[in-house]
Amino acid sequence: MSVNPKIVIVGCGISGIAAAQRLVSSGFNNVRIVEATGRSGGRIKTGRLGNNIVEIGANWIHGPSEENPVFCLARNYGLLDTEALDPVNQSVDIAGHPPWVPNVFSSSGQKLNAEDIYPAQDMFVELLYESSEFQNQGGEPWASVGDFIWSEVPKRAAEKWKDVDGATRSLRMRVINNLLKAECCVNGTHSMDELGLGAYGLYKTLPGLDCTFPSGYESLIKKLLSELPNGLVTYNRPVRCVCWNNSEQKEKPVTVECDDDERISADHVIVTVPLGYLKKHYSTLFHPPLPLHKLHSIQRLGFGTNNKIFVEFDSPWWDADCEVIYLLWEDEDALVSEIQDVQRFWIKKLFGFTVLKPTERYGHVLCGWIAGHESEYMETLSEQEVTHTVTQLIRRFTGNPTITPKRVLRSQWFHEPWTCGSYSHPGKGCSAQDLENMMEPLPTKGSQSQPLQVLFAGEATHPCYFSTVHGALLSGWREADRLIAHYSKSKL
Ligand SMILES: Cc1cc2nc3c(=O)[nH]c(=O)nc-3n(C[C@H](O)[C@H](O)[C@H](O)COP(=O)(O)OP(=O)(O)OC[C@H]3O[C@@H](n4cnc5c(N)ncnc54)[C@H](O)[C@@H]3O)c2cc1C
Repeated sequence: MSVNPKIVIVGCGISGIAAAQRLVSSGFNNVRIVEATGRSGGRIKTGRLGNNIVEIGANWIHGPSEENPVFCLARNYGLLDTEALDPVNQSVDIAGHPPWVPNVFSSSGQKLNAEDIYPAQDMFVELLYESSEFQNQGGEPWASVGDFIWSEVPKRAAEKWKDVDGATRSLRMRVINNLLKAECCVNGTHSMDELGLGAYGLYKTLPGLDCTFPSGYESLIKKLLSELPNGLVTYNRPVRCVCWNNSEQKEKPVTVECDDDERISADHVIVTVPLGYLKKHYSTLFHPPLPLHKLHSIQRLGFGTNNKIFVEFDSPWWDADCEVIYLLWEDEDALVSEIQDVQRFWIKKLFGFTVLKPTERYGHVLCGWIAGHESEYMETLSEQEVTHTVTQLIRRFTGNPTITPKRVLRSQWFHEPWTCGSYSHPGKGCSAQDLENMMEPLPTKGSQSQPLQVLFAGEATHPCYFSTVHGALLSGWREADRLIAHYSKSKL
């Protein structure tokens, strides 16, 4: 390559690493990643609970099939087990996984018949499917997915369940409330009322049964990093400001200012910081400030919290085939919009637990899921307080006062200063244009200044795979390709 531009990548999550890998393999050798923390991987973070590996951040490859670059990389690196590699697994197109085998408990300490939840589950799945269809219909009858569900459930219940008794109907409403909490976890939102209805269908799934990394998601990060030149990543170097459109006296158009006062001159900067961080720091992170339309999209897109609480037991209190445990609160038989008194009742937002499988690998470990403000409050409590509350919860729902967890470990994504939450979702009033605005480089089209000074990658910049690892990876490749195309054009 005749020109050798200096390219700085802010953030060493999967999107930053992917951008660096693509640039380096295309012959760019003046590339540097600047990372705020002391580690790589960002929201890919594998931890330990006793002898077990647990995923504090990303857990699944969603849609592991040929179109999914995370799956292809993991396969090529030999990181997947035989089941995940089975072509039958890759061809199943059911948006994730078959319905999990549930155990259902109620707050009065009873184990319920799992079949009793299916009618409500079917109605809920139907409503989510219909929510995703509004995107193609050029209109949204309600502002949010929550509003749509709240408006439809009573109508459909009156029609479909007119012959069922009051107790059964109450149970089904509890199931709907529980599934709403679960869906808040899936979407990384406090409430389904915050999820834009018209934009909900922007998210696309890939075929393949979701699979995991037997030796941890971070094994993928390690493999990718091993292909980059030594010393390419600088750790513990938070970027304070990206100064772009530098005046003509400066040699390079961009200066990256770090917290330790290091100033790095660059031709191009790829910013991969999470949307949660951008929302909080946009006003100081860029000089001159971001254009208004970009800023508005940062504000309109949502970035919420979803946390995990891992709980290990000496022996299981759930069935051998159980994959998910749902906890139904007896007092939630009407549609619940908000949990009152978060400090006392935050645990009511935890919809239940998934069972870590296979048992031979993990032992008896459950993963509790909790989203939203209640989850953010949970993060402020001590580990002992969380353990105590979870123990009381399980004892109450099982009616067994002797169950005692062996170990507990929770994530704290909201208070992680370089993330400020878990992942993005289309907020109310969002459209595809907001994701376009997110990925638009600076200066914007039509400017006379040097092009492609600041580029944007990261999960929240992908038009249909936002909130995922593959979306983040593809966004890093996209911005690297933008620069590669720019330099191959300018050579002509
Ligand atoms: C609890 C949880 C569960 C998830 N589960 C899944 C799942 O099962 N499957 C899936 O596909 N996805 C999942 N995700 C989402 C997935 O982890 C993310 O979409 C993906 O890892 C994001 O990668 P990224 O490169 O965009 O951002 P990040 O990984 O967040 O990387 C950004 C990097 O920027 C750094 N940074 C921030 N500010 C600065 C600064 N000022 N200066 C320098 N560096 C800075 C951060 O420290 C970080 O390392 C989950 C996420 C969470 C939190």
